Amino acid sequence: MQHFPIFLAMDGQRLVLSGGADAALAKLRLLMKTTARIEVYAPAPAAEIEGWAAEGRLELLRRPLRAGDVQGASLFYAADEDETEDARTAAIARSEGVLVNVVDNLEDSQFITPAIVDRDPVTVAIGTEGAAPVLARAIKADLEARLPVTLGPLARIGKGFRKLAEALPFGRARRDFWADYYFNAGPRAIDRDGETGAREALDTLLDRHLARQQREGHVAFVGAGPGDPELLTLKARRALDEADVVIFDRLVSKEILELARREATMIDVGKEGFGPSTSQETIDALIVEHAKGGAQVVRLKSGDPTVFGRLDEEIDACEAAGVTWHIVPGITAASAAVAGIGQSLTKRGRNSSVRFLTGHDVAGFADHDWAALAREGEVAAIYMGKKSARFLQGRLIMHGADRATPVTVIENASRPDQRVLLTTLDTLPADLAEAKMTGPALTFYGLAPRAAALALPDLQKELA
Ligand code: SAH
Repeated sequence: MQHFPIFLAMDGQRLVLSGGADAALAKLRLLMKTTARIEVYAPAPAAEIEGWAAEGRLELLRRPLRAGDVQGASLFYAADEDETEDARTAAIARSEGVLVNVVDNLEDSQFITPAIVDRDPVTVAIGTEGAAPVLARAIKADLEARLPVTLGPLARIGKGFRKLAEALPFGRARRDFWADYYFNAGPRAIDRDGETGAREALDTLLDRHLARQQREGHVAFVGAGPGDPELLTLKARRALDEADVVIFDRLVSKEILELARREATMIDVGKEGFGPSTSQETIDALIVEHAKGGAQVVRLKSGDPTVFGRLDEEIDACEAAGVTWHIVPGITAASAAVAGIGQSLTKRGRNSSVRFLTGHDVAGFADHDWAALAREGEVAAIYMGKKSARFLQGRLIMHGADRATPVTVIENASRPDQRVLLTTLDTLPADLAEAKMTGPALTFYGLAPRAAALALPDLQKELA
């Protein structure tokens, strides 16, 4: 960092500028935002400068800068846009012990003026040490679009409330309160009822946060469903809305994560059934740690948390730590997948039971009662069944299953990119390899899409 950013106190200070044309105008527009006194030396000033002088916004001296003029000022700008004149005035200022900026001359400047995002009292200064002014402007535009114009008044009102907010304990509780004000309650109130509204919102908000203080940490094991946010339960939505911390798996869709309370801490533990992920012990510890710290924790699991979700281990960890918990069920992948092919999980005269199997468990390919499954009319919903397709096929055929048994694989059930593959036990591994499915997929053994569902456009495409 060749230039160190600081914020200079401007109250009661004097800023001196030499110059009266474009460069001077640009700098003056910025400087006039401060509370400093501004002095301009210009033998032939632009009309705007004359105007500002007449309004009393700056003091104009219609002559060249002379030795002694800069004495005691806090900053000096050489803005004559003339190399010789700038060198002369800069030398005077330097000899009088004042920090100098020569406009458009990084080398001879002791300080540079950053690009500024002005939401006074919130100011963002952006500097690139002269390397990329274009970049600074782009960042400025980006921030300006992101920070509401009401941020300034909100911050001013917030500042006046700091003492009262000390009723909340220092640290997390107070930070949450302010985040709620700046990103949530504040902007809404000021848009609706102006500055008075924002001030009143602070009172209500403080009461709410003080009440929250009394609450103990708690864990909700919440089913996120198969991916479509409209398949979330109302209870799941409410839990997300109130969460302080959301600990989620990789299969939980982006659209659903966006529904979490804005100030919630989002923790990705990347569990996807198998494969590289945060260890279960680490996840257990995370859940407990946050709940113990008083947080409302949402442990967000894809589908239904009670189906192949290692839920019991996490509950055991909560119990061992004396943390309270509850379960919010969700729509499991099998339910979403069977809906996608227009079938029932059970059907009179076909199957009176359905098995939920995992193709894979922590130890590898999972073993099952293959002889029972191989009987005619059996239906099984196989989770995590892609990698184990060949293993499943081998075991079932070995136990006498009909090679022509229908098998349907539904990838990304309920999501816009849902795909359906209809095959048989005989050709399952080959067809699966060819389909190159990369999303989560559920395999139905003994179930083909209903004929009517076959007419659906996405199915037709797949089966053509
Ligand atoms: N608790 C989850 C299952 C977790 S195991 C549930 O109830 O759905 C992860 C497996 O679920 C994946 O390997 C895949 O087989 C299945 N799965 C999850 N979401 C799916 C989706 N949208 N479409 C198809 N299968 C899905």
